[in-house]
Formats: sequence, structure tokens, C-alpha cells
Amino acid sequence: MARFKKCVKGKSSMEKYDCLIVGAGPSGSTAAKHIAKKGYKVLVVDSRGKPGTPQQCSGLFSRNILDIISLKKNEILCEIKGARIYSPSMKLFEIKTKKTQGYVVDRTIFDARLLDEAKSAGAKIRTKTRFLKYDKNIAYFSGGYNVSAKIIIGADGPNSVVAKNFGFPELEKKISGIIKLYPEKPKEDVVELYLSRKTAPGFFAWKIPRKNDVEFGIGTDKNTKQYFDRFLLAHNVKKKPKATTGGIIPLKWRKETVRRNCLLVGDAAGHTKATTGGGVVLGIRAAKIAADAVCDALQKDDIAILSTYETKWKKEIGRDLKYALLIRNFLNSLNDSEIDKLVSISSQKVVVDFLKEKGDMDYPTKMIFAAIKRPKIWLPYMRLIPAILKNIFYCIQHMDHNKKA
Ligand SMILES: Cc1cc2nc3c(=O)[nH]c(=O)nc-3n(C[C@H](O)[C@H](O)[C@H](O)COP(=O)(O)OP(=O)(O)OC[C@H]3O[C@@H](n4cnc5c(N)ncnc54)[C@H](O)[C@@H]3O)c2cc1C
Repeated sequence: MARFKKCVKGKSSMEKYDCLIVGAGPSGSTAAKHIAKKGYKVLVVDSRGKPGTPQQCSGLFSRNILDIISLKKNEILCEIKGARIYSPSMKLFEIKTKKTQGYVVDRTIFDARLLDEAKSAGAKIRTKTRFLKYDKNIAYFSGGYNVSAKIIIGADGPNSVVAKNFGFPELEKKISGIIKLYPEKPKEDVVELYLSRKTAPGFFAWKIPRKNDVEFGIGTDKNTKQYFDRFLLAHNVKKKPKATTGGIIPLKWRKETVRRNCLLVGDAAGHTKATTGGGVVLGIRAAKIAADAVCDALQKDDIAILSTYETKWKKEIGRDLKYALLIRNFLNSLNDSEIDKLVSISSQKVVVDFLKEKGDMDYPTKMIFAAIKRPKIWLPYMRLIPAILKNIFYCIQHMDHNKKA
């Protein structure tokens, strides 16, 4: 059994923690809350003064978020009751329900609340503190601050410095996203998605209602700014935005997420759905699994237990991540006329009714298995067989970590 190193010789005045968490986003705060609740000494650091600010995310969560965390009234900007998907030649797939399908959330308020909960559970929080490196159980930060920590969790987003420090494999597949907010009272509670290689290669563009603003956004695998400018022009958006932000969105999980006494969670681990780019729901789920592994390892003083995190997240969310990536690879392999075909098949009543009942943007596995049992749903898609056959090798090759993505 490999035990944790207990103390740092000759540095008796240095602060000592059971667990250091780098990054106070939803994943870091969730892990911190659960570990601190069990009585362990936890430090959370974030380089920003106010984590969650500026908001670099649309904050669109499916209603599944309520199965893992409550949302406060002041965090909800809009309830989403439908989606409108436009194909390259503007063929329309529309789905509207009476039931709320998702929420647009103010990430600044949401992130601050999660961090407060971590603090109330006993975690120490240090903002404006940039993690630099970790060596022989000592973490070094900006401003000359150092601490000793038995375990370190990298919750520091897709450009994780923790992952680099520990030599984790790179995130193989990622895109860039930009969002712009325009002050305007939204007229509808639906999101609009625009699929086309010419509009947003490698992902899609969108329009989302946000209480008193409308958000335009885009994700692409190249030249994001140029594609976004073109998209805005096509929508006749010429005024100055109230805010512009963005960032990297991982589309594929890292090959490894545990090394020695270090774990990666959330975007740092690549726990993002490749279909929509959403990472908050899965990040929170994985953070809870990581917290359990950390508490178990500390309690039994056995570093090897940390590896159960990777086994467990793969069991709980691995299949959905894989199906989401398979769907993304398939969509990315289609040319614009094949996307047109896909959208017109999907807009048939039988498919729309099925999606109203079983559609789930977080957990495609459930939806795919339900569809397999109903030939009426998948038979129309047989028209896409030539495209599927043409692209099958591309899709499989881009799934496998051992082959070049
Ligand atoms: C344009 C765009 C739109 C998106 N829209 C959605 C959406 O609608 N729904 C959804 O679910 N997801 C969305 N996402 C993804 C979502 O933002 C992430 O999945 C989510 O924020 C991940 O949470 P996290 O806690 O893992 O990391 P983050 O929220 O990225 O938090 C990481 C934290 O680490 C800190 N940090 C980084 N480096 C250091 C360091 N060296 N030292 C100290 N601190 C450090 C950062 O300051 C940050 O606060 C979007 C992303 C983008 C880019």
C-alpha cells in the first residue's frame, strides 16, 4: 500500500492541506464542498478575482441539471421550451414542448453560489492566486505563496496548468467558442442552432434568449472570429455587443485523468459533451466521483485508491461521452447536402414526437437505445446509409485514443 507523504520536512510553518483544488468553477467548487464536508482540510485557489466572471459560457443546461443540483430562482435567466435547427439551405427542424427542457443560467451567480457552498462546508478559498507548479508535495502560486498538499485536483479548465505540470496527455480534440450579448428582450423561449460547414465548421452557431439579452454564439474548429463575423452579418447584427467572451471547448476526454496524487475534473479532464459543448452537468457529476475517491484514499491512507475515480467516471458518464463524440464525428463527417437531408428527415412528425418524449441532450445513450427499439424512428434515416458508410471509418478512427485524432 502506498501511503501519502505526511509533512514537509523543515517547512513546519507552511500551511498543510489534505487536498488542494486548482480552479473555482462548478467542478472545483463541487469537489471542494464534498471533500470539506467530510472534515478534510481543503484549499481552493483561482487566478480570477471573482470566479465565474466574466461569464465565458452560454449557461444553457438541460433540465437534467435538477437531478444533480438545485437551481435558485435568481440564477435562472430563461426557461427553454424548444429548439429550432436550421440546415445549410435553411431547412427547418423545430421542436416545441409545454414542459421546460432546459434553463439559461447566469453563470456568475451560479458559480459564486457553488463556491459559497464549498466555503460553508469548510474549504478555504483563495482568489487572485495563480497556480504555477507542484513539486514534492508543495504547490507554488503567484505572489510567492506556497502550501503543502497531499492530493491535488486540477479543475482549472481546458488549458489546465495542473495537467501540464503532471505530464497528462493533451486534450486531442477541441474547438473555440465565442459569444456576444445584445440588449434586447427575447421574443421566444427557444434556442436556434445553425448547422453548416460553411457557417460553423466542426460545430455550430446559435442564438439563445437570456432574460433581457439575446446571445449569438459560435463554435468552430478553425478561424472562429471570421466565421462569427460572417454569421452575425448574415443575421443583420451590426450593433455593438454589450459583452463578448469565449474560450476553448474540449470535445474529447483526456486519455488519463489520474496520475500519482493528482486528479483532473471538469473541462480539465475533457468532460464535455461533444454534441453541444455543455460541460457543467457532467463536470459536477465527475467532481462528486472524484471527491468520493479522494475521501476514501485519505481515510484509508492509500494513494492507489485515487485511481478508482477514473474507473468510476468511465462507468457513470463514459458511455454518454462516447456516444456524444460518435454523433459529433458523424455530424462533422457530413457535407452540407447530407446535413440538409438529415434535418429534413428529423423534421418528420414521427421523429419530432419521439424526440419530444425521449430526447435528451445530456444522455444520448438512453435516446439511442429507445430509438433502436422503434423501427418507425430509424427507418427514415436509412436514406443516409450512403453517407454513414462513406464516413464510418472517419467516425471510428476519431473515437480511438490510440489512433491519431
Ligand atoms: C463559448 C462557450 C459556451 C459554453 N456554453 C455552455 C453551455 O451553454 N452549457 C454548458 O454546460 N457548458 C457550456 N460551456 C462549457 C462550460 O463553460 C464548461 O464546461 C464549464 O465551465 C467547466 O467547468 P469547470 O469547473 O471544469 O471549469 P471552469 O468553469 O473553466 O473553471 C476553471 C477555473 O480555473 C481557473 N484557473 C485556470 N487556470 C488557473 C491557474 N493556473 N491557477 C488558478 N486558477 C486557474 C479559472 O480562472 C476558472 O475559474 C461553454 C463554453 C464556452 C467556451
